[in-house]
Amino acid sequence: MEKVMSKNVAFIGLGNMGAGMAANLVKAGFKVTAFDLSAEALNQAKANGCAIASSAIDAVASADVIVSMLPNGQIVENLYIHNDKLLSSIAKHALIIDCSTIAPENARNLIAAAADAGIAAIDAPVSGGVAAAAAGSLAFMCGGEESACEAAKPVLEAMGANIFRAGDAGAGQVAKICNNMLLAIHMTGTAEALQLGMDNGLDPAVLSNIMLKSSGCNWSLEKYNPVPGVLEGVPSSNNYQGGFMVDLMLKDLGLAMEAALASRSSTPMGAAARNLYSLHKNSDQGDKGAKDFSSILELFAK
Ligand code: NAD
Repeated sequence: MEKVMSKNVAFIGLGNMGAGMAANLVKAGFKVTAFDLSAEALNQAKANGCAIASSAIDAVASADVIVSMLPNGQIVENLYIHNDKLLSSIAKHALIIDCSTIAPENARNLIAAAADAGIAAIDAPVSGGVAAAAAGSLAFMCGGEESACEAAKPVLEAMGANIFRAGDAGAGQVAKICNNMLLAIHMTGTAEALQLGMDNGLDPAVLSNIMLKSSGCNWSLEKYNPVPGVLEGVPSSNNYQGGFMVDLMLKDLGLAMEAALASRSSTPMGAAARNLYSLHKNSDQGDKGAKDFSSILELFAK
């Protein structure tokens, strides 16, 4: 493995997550060239020490590693394979690390098309959210050849605290889908329980403290309490702004339902969570898709 300082990284997609991730690569000594369709995202990347490219093709021109952090699978496939045909502009020695949350099938299509072009690629979706992206403490769930996952480690270590290989191509996406389905289920259950307590006269902070030391303890309750004012610095205490949008959670729950159909798995709790998030998004008070996913509490509030 070459020394980290000599690596050129192309970073494509510098939104809520990508901005912090690219900034951490710069801090670790990588030479980062950024591209995003948004001028605002590019200005932020420049302020964080990235060089700015005028197109995705321009960004990958001299890249040893390409990291992408994009909204969905269609965008990822269009960029690398169909519309921009980025694969034909990437050097054979380069490694593609796609960190977007997309269907396992999209990830396998990208990795297979890259292999046909003689380029190594892995899927490496993340868990941890915007705060972890900024702090460099993300968890990465990798899928792909063992050698490619090993080669990705120095880059991933600059952006994350926990790096796992889930299995072959697409396996990282399967792990991510399972994790986020469980997240939606325990956030929904946590909101439901806290609202029941409040409706019966309990202070949500007192009830949260009791459940944190009892068998109802879980990540949503501990790190991401959905009731405004119980925890500082979480989206619920900031009018549900920032964090992980309802629309992105719905995308992930849709991916979980598609995976369950394909494997004929029973996912009644995941299906219930998807329906609850869908009801919440299409609320009488307007589209709540842009709010943080802990705003599901509003579905239960009287
Ligand atoms: P975002 O919408 O904030 O950022 C996506 C960025 O991609 C935008 O800046 C957009 O302009 C850019 N983009 C879109 N199409 C492009 C193209 N063709 N070329 C270049 N740039 C393009 O989204 P985000 O919250 O940063 O999420 C990115 C991915 O990470 C998603 O797949 C999401 O599911 C996943 N994720 C998000 C979180 C979270 O908490 N936000 C947590 C874990 C995983």
